[in-house]
Amino acid sequence: MADENDIILGIDLGTTNSLGAYFTAGGPKLIRDETGNGMVPSVIALAEGKVSVGSEAKRQAVLNPLTTVYSVKRLMGRGLADVQQELRFLPYHIVEGNHETVRVEVDGRLLTPQELSAIILNEVRGRAEQALGRKITQAVITVPAYFDDAQRQATRDAGRLAGLDVKRIVNEPTAAALAYGLDRKESATIAVYDLGGGTFDVSILRVDKGVFQVLSTHGDTHLGGDDLDRELIDLITTEIQSQFGSHLSFGPSTRQALRDFAEMTKIRLSAELSATVEVDLGEGRVYRRTITREEFERRAKPWIDRTIDACRQAVTAAGVSVEEIEQVVMVGGCTRIPLVRRAVEEFFQREPYTAINPDEVVALGAAVQAGILAGVQRQMLLLDVIPLSLGIETLGGAVGKLIMRNSTVPCRASEVFTTSIDGQTSVDIHVLQGERELVIDCRSLGRFRLTGVPPMPAGLPRIRVTFQVDANGILHVSAVEERSGRAAAVQITPSHGLTGEEVDRMVKESWKYAITDMTAHRLIDLRNETQRILAAIEKSLARAGSVLLPAQKQALDAAVAALRAAAAGEDADALWNAMSAANDAAMPLTQAQMDAVLEQTARGRKVDEF
Ligand code: AMP
Repeated sequence: MADENDIILGIDLGTTNSLGAYFTAGGPKLIRDETGNGMVPSVIALAEGKVSVGSEAKRQAVLNPLTTVYSVKRLMGRGLADVQQELRFLPYHIVEGNHETVRVEVDGRLLTPQELSAIILNEVRGRAEQALGRKITQAVITVPAYFDDAQRQATRDAGRLAGLDVKRIVNEPTAAALAYGLDRKESATIAVYDLGGGTFDVSILRVDKGVFQVLSTHGDTHLGGDDLDRELIDLITTEIQSQFGSHLSFGPSTRQALRDFAEMTKIRLSAELSATVEVDLGEGRVYRRTITREEFERRAKPWIDRTIDACRQAVTAAGVSVEEIEQVVMVGGCTRIPLVRRAVEEFFQREPYTAINPDEVVALGAAVQAGILAGVQRQMLLLDVIPLSLGIETLGGAVGKLIMRNSTVPCRASEVFTTSIDGQTSVDIHVLQGERELVIDCRSLGRFRLTGVPPMPAGLPRIRVTFQVDANGILHVSAVEERSGRAAAVQITPSHGLTGEEVDRMVKESWKYAITDMTAHRLIDLRNETQRILAAIEKSLARAGSVLLPAQKQALDAAVAALRAAAAGEDADALWNAMSAANDAAMPLTQAQMDAVLEQTARGRKVDEF
């Protein structure tokens, strides 16, 4: 049995929402706030020195589209080229970082997707600590089954940045099956259909006497509820432009508001046959429209058809027939859409399983896995598969596969290399992931150099490179020169993601530094504001300084001196206080000016003239 203090938190780090759960003797339990809500919107607001996460950040998103970050999961472990498609849908700025990574530019600061995800993880952890009244340092985090090595690594790094020891990265569909306790079945083949906000997965699992095996996974990390929202946004914006003029463009706040309208409409259409949208465009222009479920379904159908195609491919890859699949588990908010349920039922020829809330099922499953790791839950072996083949670059830009897609993890494979030049003491190797045959069509995971090979004639060294994929689906590479028995030093520079040193540095600095940096930014803004105030006071003194009583003048001089001193310092709060005090001290001056204006106006002169 694990120590009571060793709670391992199960975390569903979602594109749209994140949730935490823990394991108890009575089964997995979701972490909820005082209002009973378990979901933390995966939204972060970073502005004016403040960091807010979840509902608070989501609420202000419309007002601050440039400083609100959402869907960060789509950027995890990705390069700028991978996310080109996303850019026009994300109002915040994304720029290229080193190692082909992306950085989010918010309020003058560059943040990695890992740091942003760490902020979300930290929020989920904080809520759990509050709910359970104890410190939590360990977690199981779920990822879509289709996540490649770089994306899994990025998720693990995010956990580390949030101060969590990530005990296991688990595929979301595997977690869902665990939540349903399907391990108790003697033997069964199960399909898990997961349609969330930003990702789609379908997995075919086999359970046999308490042992899970993922037979195949298929999906699209760029398909989800957001796409359905976009269909509605397209419909609405096209109609608005045809009604009110094609010149009408939509600024960031309007786009964000449209996004919210679209999502609300989509959700309403799951329960009702029609929903009305009303957009106030200002200047008396109001767009009003009733959208029917049928109309929405027509637009949603191509997306849902794509998910069914993926189901077909997953079934084929698993080497089973649709008839053999006895249970279909539904995961993700979008599986509440009636069209989705109908399509899934029609394809699998059975009613899908929806007993557990589709939003919570993955977090609950992560908690079951946490229970297993902590030894609270009975022993159970959990097997998973790798979603994409792993290989190395061979001559002429081709890919030699070492570990095939859908191999059960943990797994290992090795290959022997040799040198092509006499006395060569190092060999460069390029590691790739993907199903295609050419390097340019696969994803580069990293390059490494085997050094310390004893000098020998070309072709003589036997360098055995071993790929090992651990239970988290994360690749480890080792190499040895077999003739000399010397282990070669392997140094991997990830193509996408952070190097070990970068993560270490960030852990040391901690994401809290974001707050310090934001404070620095705030200080700059406040100093600019100070200059404006000082100039205004000076101008007013020149105009109406004579109205001040000696004591008032003295107080104002003191406040101005204090403000100048605060502006030269580093304390933003002190500067803010000094600014307020100077404003207060200048009040009699402002008042006198206002009185003069009113008096002049009363005499028939216009305010503008004064
Ligand atoms: P998830 O990623 O699982 O949290 O799913 C979030 C997605 O599910 C978002 O696109 C939501 O708009 C969507 N969603 C949540 N509830 C419903 C509902 N009742 N009907 C349709 N879509 C929903």
